[in-house]
Formats: sequence, C-alpha cells, structure tokens
Amino acid sequence: MSNKIFSLLIFLTIFSCKNNSTENIQGIADYAITNLTLIDGSGADAAPNATISIKDEKISRITRDPVGINADSIIDGTGKYVIPGLFDNHFHLSDDIPRQFKHLIHFGVTNVFIPAGRYMTYPVVRKYDSLIRTNTISGPTLRWSSPFITVPGGHPRGNGGIEGENIHRITSTAEIPKIVEDAKANGAIALKVMIEDGPRPPFIERIKPELIKRLRQEANRHNLMLVTHISDRIELEMSVEHKADAIMHYVNPSLDWESDLELVQKIKDQNIYWVTTAMLGKAYTTYPLNPELLESEHWAVFDKEKEILKKEAGQHKEIALGIVKNYYNLTLEQWKDHKMPSHADFRKLDSLGITIVVGTDKGSPNLYNASGLGVHEEMQIYQDGDMDPLNIIKCATLNAAKMLKMDKDYGTIEEGKYANMVLLDKNPLENISNTLTINTVFKYGEIQNRITNANNGNRYTGH
Ligand SMILES: [Zn+2]
Repeated sequence: MSNKIFSLLIFLTIFSCKNNSTENIQGIADYAITNLTLIDGSGADAAPNATISIKDEKISRITRDPVGINADSIIDGTGKYVIPGLFDNHFHLSDDIPRQFKHLIHFGVTNVFIPAGRYMTYPVVRKYDSLIRTNTISGPTLRWSSPFITVPGGHPRGNGGIEGENIHRITSTAEIPKIVEDAKANGAIALKVMIEDGPRPPFIERIKPELIKRLRQEANRHNLMLVTHISDRIELEMSVEHKADAIMHYVNPSLDWESDLELVQKIKDQNIYWVTTAMLGKAYTTYPLNPELLESEHWAVFDKEKEILKKEAGQHKEIALGIVKNYYNLTLEQWKDHKMPSHADFRKLDSLGITIVVGTDKGSPNLYNASGLGVHEEMQIYQDGDMDPLNIIKCATLNAAKMLKMDKDYGTIEEGKYANMVLLDKNPLENISNTLTINTVFKYGEIQNRITNANNGNRYTGH
C-alpha cells in the first residue's frame, strides 16, 4: 500500500482494516474500494454496492458484499461510480509529448493507439513507451502502427513527412516486405495504410489495390493488423475487400440504410472495427463557431493551448464558415442547432452489430481537439446521436481493447485484469457528460497525479 493512496484520496474516507481472520485464495489485497456502483465496460448493467480489491497492479476480487474483505486498507466509495480506464484509439503526438500524456491521464485515458503521424518515428515512440513503462513520466500505455503507408502524390497531401521515418511513399510491391519487417521489429502492431483520394476535389492519387493486397499478405505473415484511413464510400469498400482489421474515420461514407445493408453486414461478419474520430468535425466547425466553449472548466488545464487558439481564432472561424457553406450546404443560421447527420449513424451501426471504437484523431486538425478531453467529447457526440451510455462506455473501453488485442488484461473491470479505473462523482449512465466528473484515476492500481490549478499541466509532479 503506497503512501500516495493516503495523501491523494482527499475526497474519500479511508480507514485501516486488517481482517486477518478471513482467508481468501488471493491473499491480502493492497486495498479495497467498497460501496461503488460498478460499470464494468462490458456493456453489462451497472452493479450497485460493489467492492473492488486491488493487489499487485491488478483487480484481485470483485464482490457485492464488503463482508470478508481482506485488505491492508479500505476506501469507502459510497456515492461513487467506477468505469474502466478510457482508450483513445486514434491519437497523434505533437511537440510537447510529456504534456499531452499528463493531460491524457488527467482525463482518465490510460491507453492510446498512435496510428502514425508527424512526430511519430520508431525511436521517438519507443523512447516514450520506455519512459512510461519505467514510471519516469506519467502517461498511458502505448501501442502504435507503422508510419503512414501511401503513394507519391497521395495523402497526406504535399510532400510532408520524412521518407522512411514517418512516412513510406511506395510505388511497387517489392518495397513492401522490408517496410513490414521494420514495423514488426519496432514493436508496431499494425500497418497504417492511407486509402484516400481527397477527401474533396481536387482529387489526388489513391493507392492501388495490388499494393493493398500485398500489404495485407505481409501483415498476415507478421501477425500485424491492417488499419486503413478512408474518407468515402469507395474507400470503405476497398477496406472491406482487402480485409482491413480496423477502419479509421467516419467522414463521409454516405451509407444508405437500405441499399448498403449488405456492405454493413460484411463489415460485421469480418469483425472490422470502426474508429470514428467524430472530434474532427467538432474541432473544424463547432469550436471555431462557438469560441465560448473554451471557457468551460475542463479547458482550464489547457492554458497554453487556449492562448494559441485565441490568436488563431479568426482563421479557424473562416475555415469553419467555408465548411458549413460548401460542405454541408447550410447557412450559418441553419447550422446553429445542427447535429451532424453522422451522429445518428453511430447508434445505427452499433445497433446493427458493428464494433464502434472511440478515437479522436487528436493532433488533427487543430488544438480544439484536446488530449484526453476529446475522448469524453467523442462519447458525448455518440450521445447526441442517441446511443445508450452503457454502449458508449463500451466503445471507449472493451471495444477499443479488443481492437488492439489487449482485452485479456485491459478494457473492463474484471478480476485478473489491470486495475485501470476512473472513479466518478456522478452517474455517467444518466448523462455521458458525467464521465467528466472525475474524482480519481487509477492506473495499474496506482492513483495518478491529476493536474491542479497550481501546476496547470506545466510542471510534472511525481512521475
Ligand atoms: Zn489521424
């Protein structure tokens, strides 16, 4: 039992309880939290009066009755709700990496998947992975993909990126085996393939099917996932055709719920995960057109980011007005209460058995898409589309862990899994925005330092 638990659990009552008379097979737990409402992440109904025992980083026992609990100390969780640590399955690095990780932990995000990006090279991501594993810095458990795999002239537009380091622009199948071997050797769990000709005119070169086919074969040989970036219906079909494991972005697939049921059925049958990144829309339009959103209490920990956004407000607003007019064909007046049509699609896909996964694309397109906070906002967008909060939580926990093949140890609050948990003051099943009433964040059973007004994310207290 670390002293941290005593010093940091200021909102909870702790009292010592050595109950040596009761033996249980797991031995004496480090601590137990009693009287919680447990929302375990599996989609099962909330369980009241749960007691969770933690020993050696893991959940050793869950019971409905605190009688017979054998732990070094007991924390009274009366009135609190507990959900698993959250995932962001589409997260990009930016220049101040430790600061982003601190923000993720602050918002209860204990796992992220980095599908390539500007700052991601193998040495960088492996360095931060090691710093987090050794508790040198605070941060989530990391997983990552290969660099972007695209073609000359393809997405990302222009000649951005450093060839061979954070992007591969390939022209022939002969180049593929080496790229895939490198990915495997560097700990990547997936190939990130850009299937993209736009998303808007002027259209650009799209990767050829023969290249995707070979990437799929080599991925199979090395037991890697194939993750595709798409932005339209043709690219969705290409992903299905080439047996992608996960699809990134729900931008504009324009699904027709009658004629496309067969395609949707294939996505379900092939068990393809769909990472939504709906925060892209919010960061492109909702925030720039409603800058007062930055005044919310949750933005208090993003002082530097707010300063930059305020300076850039004019240009972001201009882009947003262009999107509303040219992309949605709406006037600003019509847009005002507009919920993007895609928001209801998430509930529809979920009800049709598609595995929806929370991912924000943090790092894109701008700082409105904020580390950690964006995960909660992505979940709120699902609620805008009337998805049930229990299912929404599953999209950010169990579904995400399954996609990364980590569900044996992560993704739900279950005996034997890592004690990654977020304690909430209010019921997230009443309103998903209550996932932001964070009381305490646990990672591997340790209480994590959250950002206070005093340090505002700029100083790193503890690890
Ligand atoms: Zn991205």
